[in-house]
Amino acid sequence: MARRFHENRLVIASHNAGKVREFGAFFAPYSVAVVSAGALGLDEPEETGTSFAANAELKARAAMEASGLPALADDSGLAVTALGGAPGLYSARWAGPNKDFGAAMARVWDELTPHSDTSAAFVCALALVWPDGHLEAVEGRVEGNIVWPPRGDGGFGYDALFEPTGKRQTFGEMDPADKHAISHRADAFAKLIAACFAGR
Ligand code: IMP
Repeated sequence: MARRFHENRLVIASHNAGKVREFGAFFAPYSVAVVSAGALGLDEPEETGTSFAANAELKARAAMEASGLPALADDSGLAVTALGGAPGLYSARWAGPNKDFGAAMARVWDELTPHSDTSAAFVCALALVWPDGHLEAVEGRVEGNIVWPPRGDGGFGYDALFEPTGKRQTFGEMDPADKHAISHRADAFAKLIAACFAGR
């Protein structure tokens, strides 16, 4: 049985303003005020974990320990089946220091060319840690296929390369609201809300 969240303040262990806004919107209906690790001047730990879940947990624990408040962190990426789950934890790093996702998408396609299986998933791990060290963790996924060439200029990262199962548009072509309704982040949040926040 998951622990319920009764507190009214939560640190979002991210320095990304867009992410913090998105988290804030998710929690607004549950009367939880979010404050970002960036606003509190907390350091960003190195992501040394070997899974999305491990990285989310280490970021949440670092923010909790530095602030004394409950903390939530996420870690996400694209996992391509035929590439053994790559780029996976390295999704951001494949784009290099210039965040060149055109090059990162070309590398995915390049490495995938010898394979016939184009299946892939976006994955989002969420870790919620209380000041006494208790952890609740969930993982959200959306399944789909890699397409080439990339289609659409909406979204970010690998969106133009990913066509969710049963849809004819890539995430890059979709209306943002349609993407957000089915995304790996939406799936993870729904699971976290059901486990810890629903009925507040
Ligand atoms: P992080 O979880 O902020 O470390 O993000 C990891 C990386 O995964 C991002 O830089 C993107 O490359 C990729 N990624 C995660 N979610 C999405 C998505 O919804 N669309 C496209 N790329 C994504």
